[in-house]
Amino acid sequence: MEQTEKYIYNCPICNSNQFELFLDTKDYFLTKENFKLVKCSSCSFVFTNPRPPDHDLSKYYQSPDYLSHTARKRNLKDFVYQYLRSINIRRKFKLVKQFGKGNNILDIGSGTGELLNYFKKKGWNVVGIEPNEDARKFAVNTYQIAIYDEKHLKKLKENSFDVITLWHVLEHVPDLNATLQKIKKGLKKYGYLVIAVPNIEAPDFYKYREKWAALDVPRHLYHFSPKTLSLLLENHGLTIIDKKPMLFDAYYVSLLSEGYKHRKIPYLPAIINGFVSNKKAKKNNNYSSMIFVAKQK
Ligand SMILES: [Zn+2]
Repeated sequence: MEQTEKYIYNCPICNSNQFELFLDTKDYFLTKENFKLVKCSSCSFVFTNPRPPDHDLSKYYQSPDYLSHTARKRNLKDFVYQYLRSINIRRKFKLVKQFGKGNNILDIGSGTGELLNYFKKKGWNVVGIEPNEDARKFAVNTYQIAIYDEKHLKKLKENSFDVITLWHVLEHVPDLNATLQKIKKGLKKYGYLVIAVPNIEAPDFYKYREKWAALDVPRHLYHFSPKTLSLLLENHGLTIIDKKPMLFDAYYVSLLSEGYKHRKIPYLPAIINGFVSNKKAKKNNNYSSMIFVAKQK
């Protein structure tokens, strides 16, 4: 794959153009291209910079191994991922139900639709947005649910959803601020926004650094911490009211990271490091990946 031209962007949170180099890394998953992460000198947001322009980003998703877009069980890693996903779905439902007062949910980045199908079976009105055509078609055909492409975000009616969820999606979205504006518009006044993202301050990041699989450059354009996500949401009139750990992610991310270190038998060190990460994270609530619940101010 030939090298794509990359451009320098301002900080999407505070618009500063002053940053320091945070980390040199590369796309271990697909292209092996080098990328840099910078840290904003003003608000300390870490993001992939320079990066390819928006219209070139799709080529970094063109892999049959991109798990969020598939529903097959091929090898042990896929099987483990999907087994954990089914447990995760039940957990996500419980969490959303706890906050949601009504039963209209929009899931952005709905992938192959398993989560929305679960909500549908529980009597919710479900809508999904998914840019990947194959995943979208799979979900529509398999579960008969309304899934649209990303252009649908612009068409969201004001005050229509009790809950809008983004599970490991916000770190992929090219125009962060425009997207949040549209999300906010679609959310009911007393609705909730549920955002799950990897946490750049997690102990497993410090363990693996440039080989931390949750960096996933350039698919991940932003590398949030609880503080920087809060700053971004506050800019849009949203306040974080709750944070929850995603305990499985420490194990899964450790497993992929061990693979990037060319570890022949990655399972044992991954289990140990996942466990250690969660144990350390408990002290300051800085887990590998976290769920943030926000509402309008
Ligand atoms: Zn900044």
